[in-house]
Amino acid sequence: MQRLFITSENLKILVANLKKSCDEFIAPKKEHLDDIVFADTKNDHAELLNYEGNSVISPRAFLLPQTEELFEIKSVKNASFSPIEDKKKRIFYGLRPCDIKALTLMRSFFSGDFIDLPYQEKYERSTFIALACNRLCCDEAFCCEMDAGPVAKEGYALQLVAIAKGYLVDVGAKEGRQIVRENKKLFTKAKAADAKEAAVTLRGMTKGRKRIDYKKLAKIMKEDKLKPSVWDDIGLRCVVCSGCITLCPTCSCFGIADRLDGDSGTRFRYCDGCPYAGFTRMAGENTPFPLHKDRIRRFFEHKLNIDVERYGTPSCVGCARCIQTCPGNISIRKFIDTV
Ligand code: SF4
Ligand code: SF4
Repeated sequence: MQRLFITSENLKILVANLKKSCDEFIAPKKEHLDDIVFADTKNDHAELLNYEGNSVISPRAFLLPQTEELFEIKSVKNASFSPIEDKKKRIFYGLRPCDIKALTLMRSFFSGDFIDLPYQEKYERSTFIALACNRLCCDEAFCCEMDAGPVAKEGYALQLVAIAKGYLVDVGAKEGRQIVRENKKLFTKAKAADAKEAAVTLRGMTKGRKRIDYKKLAKIMKEDKLKPSVWDDIGLRCVVCSGCITLCPTCSCFGIADRLDGDSGTRFRYCDGCPYAGFTRMAGENTPFPLHKDRIRRFFEHKLNIDVERYGTPSCVGCARCIQTCPGNISIRKFIDTV
């Protein structure tokens, strides 16, 4: 892996150059009550090149939005329709390593047993620039334990690591090499002292934090060795607000519906998920998950057991968004600790 250095001034020039090469430049900016959100800053130039913490809503929202039109239905009677394609070229800047890992996991899901063209094409047309974490984004975050921080291991074109004098730049995928080639005057070789400074900072983040033995955890869950009272307690506290699935960067479930006006309209998808009673409801009002505790159990099982089996890694990246939003104070982190 190539490692370079860029000053803060040159990073501003790089961002200006990158904006000319894309339709949307999705970057962190401050909104409302000082919250960090990802938004298109191509024209308002409100992006934060460096920032503390993480965004409230993950960048997943740009690749799998809450609602997304898929087809224009020209005529139901004649079975005539045409796909609605999103051909925008997006550059994502400043994504945290946990969210980079989440998007990579989502790509595996959407390019696995079935190919989901809307997601896959948007992902392939996107370029991802990661910003490594120099400190935890919040007390509840446990990305380091879930192998998802403080640096991304893959899935980025460039990864920036902030140091006192500027940024170290790890060059990842081929788009990263192309960006460097096209902007070579902005980069210099990284010095050993700078690399050492970054290593000390990053080591500080992982100090005292052990990677969770997620294979063991998955096995315990698969063998159903947990006390039933754990699920009872979770079930009593869940109020089905859906905050967890709305904010989770790796939730990929959706439903499909048609919006018709006479013979024509649109087919769209909407994010759906385990906490809802209707999510797995079948004909005759039957559901295999009738209780809150069953449905949140499914959420945890998916992240910590099924996906470990499927991808060799959990699909919880330890971002803590679900913990921070849950009105029932349900914590997947505490759950892991009690297993
Ligand atoms: S955020 Fe908490 S209360 Fe809301 S659906 Fe998720 S587990 Fe239930
Ligand atoms: S389950 Fe919770 S902590 Fe894990 S990735 Fe999803 S929102 Fe983040």
